Amino acid sequence: MAFSTLLLDIEGTTTPVAYVFEVLFPFARDRVQAFLAAQGQAAQADLALLRQEYQAETDAVPAWSGDEPVAAVPYIHYLIARDRKSTGLKSLQGKLWNAGYRSGELRSQLFPDVKPAFERWQAAGKAIYIFSSGSVQAQQLIFRYSQDGDLTPYISGYFDTTTGPKREVSSYQKIAQEIGTAPNDILFISDVVAELQPAQAAGFQTLFSQRPGNHSDDSQGVEVIHAFDQVQLTQKALDPTQTVE
Ligand SMILES: [Mg+2]
Repeated sequence: MAFSTLLLDIEGTTTPVAYVFEVLFPFARDRVQAFLAAQGQAAQADLALLRQEYQAETDAVPAWSGDEPVAAVPYIHYLIARDRKSTGLKSLQGKLWNAGYRSGELRSQLFPDVKPAFERWQAAGKAIYIFSSGSVQAQQLIFRYSQDGDLTPYISGYFDTTTGPKREVSSYQKIAQEIGTAPNDILFISDVVAELQPAQAAGFQTLFSQRPGNHSDDSQGVEVIHAFDQVQLTQKALDPTQTVE
């Protein structure tokens, strides 16, 4: 396959699922109460979004009564426990993680082949973008404060749910437009078939990321990779004698 641009999922693709569920989510859950008590003003916009979401709930959810920012904590814990992909929650979690990364309490985990691949892709002239349901701020933190150092210089841009849901064709159409690249020149890698299928429908090339600890190993026919060194870098050679991988 030839491509000019990579679009990468994070959880299960660049980053172990366990880092998200066993480190990041508990970190946010444990600190949200103290954060809202001390800096509730900074979270007003997030709380307003969450209040709308709360008012639209049809299931029985923990009560959110009172106007103090901390009154939202039981409902926020409920959303975190369900990994609800809501924009207000993701933004608030991003603020909590920002504090943790800056203080040095958090360092993100990436699969060991990620940084070498970024170096290789950059050297080959490929552009690297990220598409994750985590907020753009949270995505940037993951790549800035990693155990392998700051990888943000390799990344050209980030997309989150403000562009659109990961399971809708229109989100991928928008991303291709925003990048300014033909869909068939973009390779999207994710561990979720329900994200790869709409990307394919939008014309993207796709690979299924099968990593240790992922939720599903069923690629449903999508080509599988276990690490980024399996991505074939078919370059558009200017010199016909140049070796093509
Ligand atoms: Mg994923």
